[in-house]
Amino acid sequence: MRKINTRNFRLATRSTPREINRQIVLNLIREHQPISRAELARRMDVHRSHLTPLVRELVSTGAVYEQGTAAVVRGRRPTLLYVHTRGRFAVAVDVRSEHTTVALADFGGATIAKTVFATPAEPGELVEALAERIDRLRGEHGAHGDGAMDGNGTAGACHGVGLVVPGMVDRRTGRILYAPRLRWRDVDLRSALAERVGLPVHVESAPIACALARLWLSPEDTATVRSFAYVSVSDGVSVGLVLNGETLRGEAQTAGEFGHVTIDPHGPPCVCGKKGCWEAFTCNAATVSRYVDRVLRQRPGASRAQSTRPRSAPTIEEVVRRAQRGEEAAAATIAETGWHIGRGLAAVVNGFNPGRVYLGGEITAAWELLEGPIRQALVDETLTEAARATPVVPDRRPAEYRLLGAVALVAAPTFAAHRVG
Ligand SMILES: [Zn+2]
Repeated sequence: MRKINTRNFRLATRSTPREINRQIVLNLIREHQPISRAELARRMDVHRSHLTPLVRELVSTGAVYEQGTAAVVRGRRPTLLYVHTRGRFAVAVDVRSEHTTVALADFGGATIAKTVFATPAEPGELVEALAERIDRLRGEHGAHGDGAMDGNGTAGACHGVGLVVPGMVDRRTGRILYAPRLRWRDVDLRSALAERVGLPVHVESAPIACALARLWLSPEDTATVRSFAYVSVSDGVSVGLVLNGETLRGEAQTAGEFGHVTIDPHGPPCVCGKKGCWEAFTCNAATVSRYVDRVLRQRPGASRAQSTRPRSAPTIEEVVRRAQRGEEAAAATIAETGWHIGRGLAAVVNGFNPGRVYLGGEITAAWELLEGPIRQALVDETLTEAARATPVVPDRRPAEYRLLGAVALVAAPTFAAHRVG
């Protein structure tokens, strides 16, 4: 799936599929909405009469709607075009090692309803638990299955299920190749779930889905940056890479697994069985564990630390809250994680040279504490001025970034460039 470059396109001639022209128009409306027909024609450098049948087609299928009028001094007041996101639903599923979230969302990424449950150990049990909740959410909110995958924007239509997992996924088959935190190897959730719920199911590794969400749900962000990295720092750490508007997958579909690059062979043990992986330094559990150690060290009689270790550790969200309230141990721990994040980012920047790095994860809610150490590590460990200056941008919705990724799996194909030749 490749995103059309709306900064550099050529309108297809009559001998090439009309479908491509329609996709160009749809993508331009999406990036510049609300937009008038005149402005659209100007941007495409064509006469309005060439545009009329394409826009009419998009309006009739429900992909685009017209509303309002632009302010004009005199003459005809033009209607403006918008891409239809409301009334087009996707089921978004975020599978994590501890719990799974199922949400009903519209194509713009707005969550309508969601539910959370403990992730079952067996894939078959997960399919059953998901099917039951998906049926209930759709029933409660009238998201029927009509129009799925046919490109029609029927109001109230549920177009599919997007499911993100903490692991490597073969996009062609939908099989989960390896998810260390779930202890799954070669698992097929897609066909069983599709059969149970009667909707197309798209399965993807979380950071790749999040990269897609940046491309498709926030086009204004990525219109000028065609190559970027999306780094997810959460239960685990992994990277989705986008090169020239297309996700980079690699020969065996496992590109971007920087989380298990060793940054210190004497570092802490990692869930993958190695030692000192980037993930072992920066994942949420690592941050929480360092925070607990730091608090215990500061207490009187710290030598008996092990025996006084609290039975239940705080969550990462709680550590972030304590840091934001000014608690020194929490703030210092998050800054330390920031430095470790930056060291791994330096490897991503050195190896991939992205135009921008997006950072998602609960910890990014404390961006003011992370940014400095991340930038310092990039200065220390990258090789050129340009690499040192690579923008690093936190995701604006740290609590929901993976659900947005799941929505993009369903919404993006309706905007994607069709393969030609
Ligand atoms: Zn590892």
